[in-house]
Amino acid sequence: MSVPKMLHPFAIPARTEFTTFVGGEGAEIIDSEGNRYIDAMASLWYLHAGHSCQPIIDAVTAQMNNLAAFHTFEKFSNEPAEALAAKISSLAPVDDSRVFFTDSGSEAVDTAMKLARASHARAGNPERRLIVSRDRGYHGVNYGGLAAMGLPLSKENFGRMLPDVMQVPVDDLEAMAILFSERGHEIAAVISEPVQGAAGVYPPPDGYLQGLRRLCDQYGAFLILDEVITGFGRLGTWFAGEFYGVRPDMITFAKGVTSGYQPLGGVIIGAPVRASLEADASWILRHGYTYSGHPTACAAALANIEVIGDGLMARVPHIAERLGSGLKALAADGAVDEARGVGGLWAVKLPGEMQSPPIRDAMMAKGVIPRPIGPTIAFCPPMVITDAQIDRCVDELATAIDECSRQ
Ligand code: PLP
Repeated sequence: MSVPKMLHPFAIPARTEFTTFVGGEGAEIIDSEGNRYIDAMASLWYLHAGHSCQPIIDAVTAQMNNLAAFHTFEKFSNEPAEALAAKISSLAPVDDSRVFFTDSGSEAVDTAMKLARASHARAGNPERRLIVSRDRGYHGVNYGGLAAMGLPLSKENFGRMLPDVMQVPVDDLEAMAILFSERGHEIAAVISEPVQGAAGVYPPPDGYLQGLRRLCDQYGAFLILDEVITGFGRLGTWFAGEFYGVRPDMITFAKGVTSGYQPLGGVIIGAPVRASLEADASWILRHGYTYSGHPTACAAALANIEVIGDGLMARVPHIAERLGSGLKALAADGAVDEARGVGGLWAVKLPGEMQSPPIRDAMMAKGVIPRPIGPTIAFCPPMVITDAQIDRCVDELATAIDECSRQ
């Protein structure tokens, strides 16, 4: 069989067989043969509002009938982009913020890295170039975020990485403190996911994020929280910064801002970063994307944020309790080695040496699609998931592990 014309992302290029999806409803996704599955990962951590959310569809349709597209470079603007920036700024745990729009999380991360360096440079500190990230971190696949990536396999074959970007051992505040004591005057920013997602769902140790905040304050570096997964209600608060009581200087977001109905990302930029960028009324920020502030994408986000605030986010503690206790019960029974998570983000470490792709395939055969990550199976369901669907996720995981361990 020959390969299809589409070269798939994060896939084996020689792969020839794919599952094709044609529809979705609530927390369910439907393939071209009519099979229905529980979308236990909200696609790729983003379908907070679930499939077929009519208010978002209506908002996108209305905006397209009005102004479908126009850029926002230089002196041009549009109403949904301005309204969305104001809305996000009002929700974010960032002091006196503004919002820069991108099309994806990767672009958001690269934008935040560039803004951190530019802000220090404009403030007369061009030597502050170093961006520090954590092992096991995922910050997208553009060259900036890739340099900050703490998952080494994803860097292979792509040549030399961006200079002045380095990783420190994960969850090790002492290692970070040593780096600051040696190179604090060179550090532009620390970037960290509040909960490491793509690596397999690792919540931060108690006090870790607060420790990062303290070090950044002490040495004059910016703290960037990469909330591409945790933003827009995933932990039951609008942002994880609020959940953990940490106010960063910048937040990167994407995914849940539109529940994926339109591609959109961005950076929330706080007062200390803004100050030097706005100081000279003639200086031009030479950075931006063709679709930054795309009106239709912003209209989708405005409707989605309303849906999330209007009852969906309030369901997250319940999802956390039901899904979390189901997975922890599997750990208590010895069916899995560990269950970990927070809010609507959960994962199990499979027993012993068991790997996740066959478990995912066995669960899919029973109508549940989780995410396989090495020895980990992750769950991040749409917030519209029902109790019965949550229970099926846990039950089908247990059945799949049982089946695979007998083969
Ligand atoms: N940052 C984090 C924390 C992510 O989880 C991701 C994607 O999963 C990204 C950045 C990259 O986002 P995108 O795939 O939209 O470019």
